[in-house]
Parts: sequence; structure tokens; C-alpha cells
Amino acid sequence: MSFSNLGLLPELLRAVEEKGYTAPTPIQAGTIPAILAGRDVLAGAQTGTGKTAAFVLPILQRLTQDTAGAQHRAPRALVLTPTRELAAQVADNATGYGRYLKLRTAVVFGGVGINPQIDQLRRGCDLLIATPGRLLDLSEQGALDLGRISCFVLDEADRMLDMGFIPAIRRVLKLLPSERQNLMFSATYSDDIRALAQRLLRNPVSAEVASRNSTAERVTQSLYRVPKESKRHLLAHLIQEGNWQQVLVFTRTKHGANRLAKQLEGAGIAAAAIHGNKSQAARVRALADFKGLRITALVATEVAARGLDIKELPHVVNYELPNVPEDYVHRIGRTARAGASGSAVSLVSADEEPLLRDIEKLLRSSIPATPVPQFAVLNTPAEPERAPVRAVRQGAAAANGRPPHGAHRGARRPQHGSGHGSAGGERHHAPHGTQRTSSQPRGEPHASQPRGEQGRPGERGQGRGFGGERRPSGGRERGGWRRA
Ligand code: AMP
Repeated sequence: MSFSNLGLLPELLRAVEEKGYTAPTPIQAGTIPAILAGRDVLAGAQTGTGKTAAFVLPILQRLTQDTAGAQHRAPRALVLTPTRELAAQVADNATGYGRYLKLRTAVVFGGVGINPQIDQLRRGCDLLIATPGRLLDLSEQGALDLGRISCFVLDEADRMLDMGFIPAIRRVLKLLPSERQNLMFSATYSDDIRALAQRLLRNPVSAEVASRNSTAERVTQSLYRVPKESKRHLLAHLIQEGNWQQVLVFTRTKHGANRLAKQLEGAGIAAAAIHGNKSQAARVRALADFKGLRITALVATEVAARGLDIKELPHVVNYELPNVPEDYVHRIGRTARAGASGSAVSLVSADEEPLLRDIEKLLRSSIPATPVPQFAVLNTPAEPERAPVRAVRQGAAAANGRPPHGAHRGARRPQHGSGHGSAGGERHHAPHGTQRTSSQPRGEPHASQPRGEQGRPGERGQGRGFGGERRPSGGRERGGWRRA
């Protein structure tokens, strides 16, 4: 199968070729002809399968061929995404694939000024990519006419549901013409997703790439059974011993992400956190630093990381397991993208065993356990006098003169090996459900607001353990890291 078999315009084939794609991915082969033919489509595909091009390419083609609609300023195709990051990425893709066409793409999402978006819409666009809340704001302000939409895409519909966007989506649908093409992409098919598909789609063509497990099968998965308080030592060890250049680390809470990023910085590993409490600018900067290999570890909450297109990410670490087993598959889908291989490592404390069981049930296989290096648990160095493995960004860690991780002389702890020494204590499990903060505009959280991102009670501002992690300059450490 090649792209030229799909019936795409030469301008699109040229753009695709310049991207270096040699053949369509299965989801592209399965959906592009149907979308070009004007059919509704229900596609089961997660990030990393090439799903964006699967709808963007044929939409650009239909918009180009529909010359009648072209003279209007109002958008003719609308893509709704759950997060700002995903909206921006879809827009980037559309701009790239459409570079040889004369179409205008606009993107609108919350968290940034609305006036430039109003100006942009006034100038006109053919394809609009939006998050639901900002879209409704713009419509209410009279800045947006959705009455000419002939193609509507619901991207990552399962995440939309998780984030509580259904009422917002219903309101958007009321603003669209009833005669239109509808495309729905979802990584998972729950009963709710099927019900939504039934309401939205007419006689859809279904295309499902690979079961949820297929990503999992391409990724080298492993786990370490490790006491909670040893996780950060083990993580620093894995990064440094493996000479990892780029690792995406998942934590369950925003505060946990902040804390871990600081701890890694303290260990001489350039790191940044990305989550919904960070400003858009900070998130964009962190992502750019990560992609540019200026930071080694990007510590992210579930939803903030979802949809991020980071090519061929070599390592993903589940610092904490997700509450929802499907999220494990989403997370490890960040690596081994579009055919590249990758590793996914999970650090599992005893209280997470039930979560692990659920994940393994979903995968229908068990994740191999790797023995925990004893010194990592004990927080003693493998090679005490070793120089830093890599250059550290000229940031906090370097500027503070903190020693690299491998140079600690940490306090010995009474736990050993791969057991769950102290697993009893605190529970990280955040409630499973949609959370919104009152300051957010209707139904449009930050990219990472919902499930599992709220800090634990009492966990505000300086997280516990920060103070104790500042080491005296000169590299001699008396106490090692405090317990988290
Ligand atoms: P997506 O699932 O849309 O997030 O795409 C995942 C990644 O696959 C992106 O980096 C795309 O640029 C890339 N990609 C999309 N289609 C192809 C293709 N046919 N061949 C190789 N890479 C692709």
C-alpha cells in the first residue's frame, strides 16, 4: 500500500513525501478513502498510530475540492480536541500537510488571550481546530460562525468524555449544520463512547487499528518492585546508568510532578515538570527543551502528556501507576511511536499491586519484573567518584553546584533489595473522576485538569521533602534525601 493508492491530491502526496513517510499507517489506509468519499467514520486509534494525518489529509483534500465554500470566511471543517497541546499539534500537522494547498488553518484554545484569536477568525479560515470551552466563548461573543461546517471531527473522544466535555460538545453540535460529515477518533471503546458514536455518526465506516495491546507489544516493558521512598533514587540511577538522554516520567499528581522534577534537578539531571497548573508558555518551553534534548527528564501528569507528539521517545517511566489500566497503554504509547522501539519502565510500590494486576489483566500478559539494584534502594553510589554522565543544563542544578546523582554519600536505609519495604503508608490514589477548578471557563480545563491530578490534601506549595534535598555545596552530603 502506498499513499498514491489512496486517491490523495499530488499536493498532499508531495507534502507527505517530504515528511519522509513511505507508506500509510494502517489507520490511514483504513480511513482516508472513506473520508474522501464523504462517509462518517468511527476510528479506534490512539496517539502514535498516525491518526492525525488519517483525518487531516482527506479533510484538506475535501476542502480544496469544495470550491463553492472557499470564498467564505467561516470555517468549513472543525476539529475538537480535549487539550490545548493536542489542538496545537493538530494545527501544526494541518499546516505542514497543507503547505502546497491554498487553505487557511486556525487554532483556538483557552489559557491564552482571546483577542488575537478573534482577529484570526475575522481574517477567515477553512479548517478550525479548537478546544471546546474557548470555541463556545468565541461563538458566544459573535466572533465565530459555525454554520458552514461540513466536516466535524471529535479527536480523542474517550479523553473528551473523561474530561467532562460532553455537555460542551452537545452545545457545539447544536451550532453546526445538521448535514455534515462526522469523524470520531477514540483510543478506547467504552459503552459511553459507543453511545456517543451512535448519536453522532450516521452509518459510519469503522476502522480500528490494532487492539489496545498492540502498542504494548512493540514496547519493551519492565517493572521494578520498589518501596515508594526509593523510587526517585532508582529513577536517577536508571537515567544515569543507562545514559538516558530523553525520558518522559509520569506522576499521578501535579505536586508530585513538581517535586520529582526538583529532586531530579537536585541529583544533577536536567528536568522540568509539565502539568495543568503551569502556564501555557511554561509548558511550551518545557516541551521545546525536552524535544531539543536540553532537558533529560520531562515529568508529566497523565493528561498534560497525552497527545504530545515527541518523536521516537526512547524511554517512558511510570513513576506511579495510573488508576485506570487503559492509561498505562496510553502512557507507554509515548514510546515506540510509528515503528520505533522504546522502553517503558514502571516503578511499582506495594500499594500499587492491585493497579498492576488490573493493567496486566488488560494486557493479557504480565510485565517482567527486574531486580532492584540494591544501592539504588539504599541510596548509595554505584561509582562514587564518577563524573557526571552528561552535560547538565545551565540551570538550577548546575548553578547551585549540586553534585551529580552518582556522587552522593547517602544515608543508608534499612530496606533491601526488591521488596516493598515500607509500602504501607500514604495513599496516592486520587479519585477517579472529572475534576474542574472553578476558575476554568466552562468545561475547558487546562490540558491536565481531570482525573488524578489534584494534589493530596495538605500538599500545597513546598512539598514535603524539598528543604532536605538541598545539598551543601562542595558535594559532601550528610543526610541524603529525606523521605518523601
Ligand atoms: P499521531 O498518531 O497522529 O500522533 O502521529 C504519530 C507520529 O507518526 C507523528 O510524528 C507523525 O508525524 C508520524 N506519522 C504519521 N503518519 C506517518 C506515516 N505514514 N509514516 C510514518 N510516520 C507517520
